[in-house]
Amino acid sequence: MGEIFEEKLIEMTRRGEQKKVEYLKNLNNVILPSFVKRIREDDKTVLKEIVVPEWVSWDLLREWALNKEKPAGRKCILCSELDETGINFKNEFVCRDCFLALKNME
Ligand SMILES: [Zn+2]
Repeated sequence: MGEIFEEKLIEMTRRGEQKKVEYLKNLNNVILPSFVKRIREDDKTVLKEIVVPEWVSWDLLREWALNKEKPAGRKCILCSELDETGINFKNEFVCRDCFLALKNME
């Protein structure tokens, strides 16, 4: 969970705004995955298609989207697929398959 989001939750809990807290914790059920993807891409036209309360700012929404259940693994710089196993190569990630393919070429 991101910092802004976390802070907002704490702040609301302190203010006794339970309904808002619950709303935010429930965002997963409110916003469809296809919208989450667009929020991540900073596509504000989403706001015309989803219904969120006024107090939910774009930044908050975006942080939530960026931090929620990221797909497992890291993105391989060679094939762009997500994988959990692989190696770090000059601060980039190379998945196992690509790494093995490279090794075989040597
Ligand atoms: Zn790869």
